[in-house]
Amino acid sequence: MSKVSIIGAGFVGSTTAHWAVMSGGCSVVVLMDVVDGLAKGKVLDLIQAGPIAQHSVDAIGTSDIFDTANSDLIIVTAGVPRKPGMSREDLVTVNANIVRSVITEAIRLSPNCIILMMTNPLDTMTYLAYKLSGFPRERVIGQAGVLDSGRMRTFISMETGVSPENIHTTVMGGHGDEMVPLVRYSNIAGMPLKYFLKEEQVSRIVERTRTGGGEIVQYLKTGSAYYAPGAAAWKMAEAVVRNKGEILPASVYLEGEYGLKGLCFGVPVMLGYNGVQKILELELNAEEKAALERSSALIRSTMSHLKI
Ligand code: NAD
Repeated sequence: MSKVSIIGAGFVGSTTAHWAVMSGGCSVVVLMDVVDGLAKGKVLDLIQAGPIAQHSVDAIGTSDIFDTANSDLIIVTAGVPRKPGMSREDLVTVNANIVRSVITEAIRLSPNCIILMMTNPLDTMTYLAYKLSGFPRERVIGQAGVLDSGRMRTFISMETGVSPENIHTTVMGGHGDEMVPLVRYSNIAGMPLKYFLKEEQVSRIVERTRTGGGEIVQYLKTGSAYYAPGAAAWKMAEAVVRNKGEILPASVYLEGEYGLKGLCFGVPVMLGYNGVQKILELELNAEEKAALERSSALIRSTMSHLKI
């Protein structure tokens, strides 16, 4: 292992490529974009950081999808990001056309790859990639929960002063404002959040996690977050290419888990070489189940705009 190709050399794609070469977890990274010269220029810049930052992973920048052939992992970041006032759901039609062309070409050239989707609306685009590829569900995953859990850890750390390293959070469901941060499955050094935070602080953190992406969009005005999304994409990619068996949240096609089927939805999974090795089912109470229902309803309404 492993050849990793990143399709889309915009903010998220190039940040992911940066994490990929820094981590050294793969043998070659290909960064591809339809805009001529964009990926080539970014990769040239990236490899010139090698002698300074001491990374030596081979990297190729290209506008030719053929250079992605025989990839072990393909990370799809091609698509349009949000602008202020847009929900992730608003992106569905334009990004579905991009994802359709990217996936069709990419899997023809890399029929045995794992697909990691980043393009928003994330769960709907992961579903589209799953359907178009015809791959087993284990080989098509979407990144959302790693980022959302990271945001929740950051906000808890900001509120308590405790190092994020001691903070564990669980966020399930869709990558939208109806995502489900699970307070009962989050802790600080093994202790429940209530030992450190008042109820109203926890509610505020949950709400800020849900709208964390939008908060950044409001500041940036012309695009959306990319440092933490790139780190999250690479966290998942590394679990695959290093065959770590790591438990992380991922959007995957459900066939009855959590009482849901026929959609891609964020759940805890174990990740390794072959993609999803196991889907884990947490025991949820009535309130948590209702939150998952609301989140799945939002995804289904976005999916209804897809033509496949
Ligand atoms: P960006 O505009 O900076 O980059 C997108 C790139 O995709 C552009 O360079 C564009 O030329 C390229 N592209 C478009 N069509 C292509 C095609 N057919 N083949 C190859 N490349 C193509 O946007 P960004 O900020 O990098 O965001 C990319 C996507 O990731 C957006 O949909 C955004 O909403 C999403 N995103 C997801 C998460 C997440 O956690 N899943 C987080 C942030 C952003």
